[in-house]
Amino acid sequence: TIRPTKDGYEVFDLQSRNGTVVGGRLIRQSKLVDGDIIQLGPRVSFRFSLMGERQADVMRQLFEASVRDGLTGAFNRQHLEDRLRGELAYAVRHKSELGLLLLDIDHFKRVNDTYGHLAGDAVLRFVAGAISSRLRTEDLFARYGGEEFVAVLRGIDLAGTARAGERLRSVLSANCPHYEGHMIPVTVSIGAASLATCPKPTIESLIATADRRLYVAKNGGRNRVVSRDPVAVG
Ligand code: GH3
Ligand code: MG
Ligand code: MG
Repeated sequence: TIRPTKDGYEVFDLQSRNGTVVGGRLIRQSKLVDGDIIQLGPRVSFRFSLMGERQADVMRQLFEASVRDGLTGAFNRQHLEDRLRGELAYAVRHKSELGLLLLDIDHFKRVNDTYGHLAGDAVLRFVAGAISSRLRTEDLFARYGGEEFVAVLRGIDLAGTARAGERLRSVLSANCPHYEGHMIPVTVSIGAASLATCPKPTIESLIATADRRLYVAKNGGRNRVVSRDPVAVG
């Protein structure tokens, strides 16, 4: 743990198994100065850096810019993949569920064609805002591609994931974004999947399953949630 003191900061080792090393010395407690390297066990090290409020703000903004999509404020695809890897490993280890929704705006090209690209951008922001404000803090929401979004629901099984998807779908079909005096109706199609019910416990399998179902939702008429694979006939 690192604690502020009257005249700076100190690091304390809380009887860790691997030890804490500062400046090449194994320590129980040590003063920290700007630039100190804190090593935890053989493989993890941090650089302790003191910075002013303004500089810390800049660092925070740089970090935010690296993990978020500039248009919608949702996480970007790279960050989604990084976090999803962690969520999946945790869920497998703890035998807990993990739900995933793949959402795609219906006939979005028409919005651009009818109202222009800026209106399209406004619709993307509206959809992202409507979805993210209705998810839980621990859920992960990202822009997956142009007009496609992913929501990852921690600890939620397939039925719960489908219900969450249905809630989002109905909220969007009942609320319209406005752009320069135009009401632009927007709907989404959604494919739902969950870790325990998909063929393999991998990110690829989870996304591929949701994607397959999204495709079924599109073919079935759009503005719907699909959480099952079609039963083969014949
Ligand atoms: P479907 O219901 O089958 O999903 O039809 P669609 O028109 O939504 O799908 P399609 O893949 O044909 O078109 C997606 C469109 O999204 C085309 C592309 O120009 C637009 N798009 C992608 N990214 C952005 C963006 O950042 N801003 C705007 N305005 N449009 C975007
Ligand atoms: Mg698409
Ligand atoms: Mg689309």
